[in-house]
Amino acid sequence: MSDSFDVVVIGGGPAGYPAAIRAGQNKLSVACVDEWKNRDGTPAFGGTCLNAGCIPSKALLESTELYHRVHEEFAVHGIRVPNVSLDLAQMQKRKAGVVKTMTQGILALFKANAVTPLQGHGKLLSGRRVEFVAHDGTRRELTAKHVVLASGSAPIELRSAPFKSPHIVDSWGALDFEAVPKRLGVIGAGVVGVELGSVWRRLGAEVVMLEALPDFLAMADQQLAKEGLRHFKKLGLDIRLAANVTGASVSGGAVDVTYEDAKGEQKVTVDRLVVAIGRRPYTEDLLAAGTGVELDERGFIKVDQQCRTSAEGVWAVGDCVRGPMLAHKGKEEGAMVADLIAGGFAEVNYKTVPSVIYTAPEIAWVGLTEEEVKKSGRAYKLGVFPFLASARARAMEQAQGFAKIIAAQDDDEILGVHIIGPMASELIAEAVLAMEYSASSEDLQRTIHAHPTLSEALHEAALAVDKRSIDAINR
Ligand code: NAD
Repeated sequence: MSDSFDVVVIGGGPAGYPAAIRAGQNKLSVACVDEWKNRDGTPAFGGTCLNAGCIPSKALLESTELYHRVHEEFAVHGIRVPNVSLDLAQMQKRKAGVVKTMTQGILALFKANAVTPLQGHGKLLSGRRVEFVAHDGTRRELTAKHVVLASGSAPIELRSAPFKSPHIVDSWGALDFEAVPKRLGVIGAGVVGVELGSVWRRLGAEVVMLEALPDFLAMADQQLAKEGLRHFKKLGLDIRLAANVTGASVSGGAVDVTYEDAKGEQKVTVDRLVVAIGRRPYTEDLLAAGTGVELDERGFIKVDQQCRTSAEGVWAVGDCVRGPMLAHKGKEEGAMVADLIAGGFAEVNYKTVPSVIYTAPEIAWVGLTEEEVKKSGRAYKLGVFPFLASARARAMEQAQGFAKIIAAQDDDEILGVHIIGPMASELIAEAVLAMEYSASSEDLQRTIHAHPTLSEALHEAALAVDKRSIDAINR
């Protein structure tokens, strides 16, 4: 086997594996090095997203949402289901099956695109050489014309509440509980916090969430965040804002968590504690001395707009570089870099990276929040359409939330779209496409949407921008 490649990608997560596949499609010789091992010791491509993040969490979110709806909603539909019971082992088994299918799919894609999979640790040496140590300890030195670093991120540990499995865990640990904790604590009411809090709440856990910031989902449009908070409280999530955790200790099989809020020192005792306070770039043992690759003050690999590092022929993509830590952002960067290496034209439009929170109702947005537009000083128009007025949402018994469009007052360009409601994760794609084409709200107004569909909410929100909504009262 040759040790010389056009491209070596270090990291086989959602940024690295697309880079490798696209390089293969571009007829470059390419290897993808990945060191991930699952808890049972089996190596797997796919990184955090496929093995321990997006995919297993979505599998559990789907299962637990169904369980919740059987209890809360089916009777309204006229469906009586007596004696519903939970088989958590089966739920976890299904989740593991979904993960396995998807991660094995990457190997099949590698084969189809002539990517050489190398499972073990990769380290960039000077002169675009890569040290590869396979899981069995064998060492090889690879040379490459281009190296793509896609080493991902790792959960941030909280000094006052260090991980102590099985009681104090990160998001991966919280996906693998073998029993529903009676009392669950979550530190950080961010994306992971509300998704995993929802999973275990739906299965019956009492969930207390401690969030340091005074605002809920501070990065989101606050009208959206407020609506979300209302629904999560209704679900039974006990979300405590402006709560600063000062300590956590395991005693007698439970975790005592202390925190400070406006009223002073508080204490809560839980059976399991999830720490979900964000992630940090993962670059441990990635760079040997003399590579010329620089990190910034927060540990991210420094890159330009097109993901070039400070070393010639070395690129970096995904969670280990600036920008939102989102799989789809990494995927675009990976494919872009592989196209640039092949001499093609490629770019990532960072202004149209969508964000999604897979709760019920789902939350999704793209572009600027109303707060950001206000701060920019640009005059704007707002169109809001409630799902209460959507025939399809009513028929689905999911008439919650709204779609909101922010358009510029001067030229009507869509600046931001914010959706909380059924299938918001899917609906946002239309908004992303609209913004990719610099659409105006009038463009969306004049676009025919099938009836009855949830997508009409976006159409009606666009109409509401000019107070021309047909199905809701214009305000
Ligand atoms: P996050 O940044 O979304 O949320 C972390 C939260 O913890 C913030 O609200 C922050 O204020 C709070 N926090 C920080 N320190 C705290 C402390 N000491 N005490 C209490 N609260 C504290 O991070 P996350 O939820 O851990 O997610 C990690 C990354 O993974 C994010 O970049 C996220 O976008 C990504 N992710 C995305 C999805 C998705 O796309 N649906 C799902 C999961 C994770």
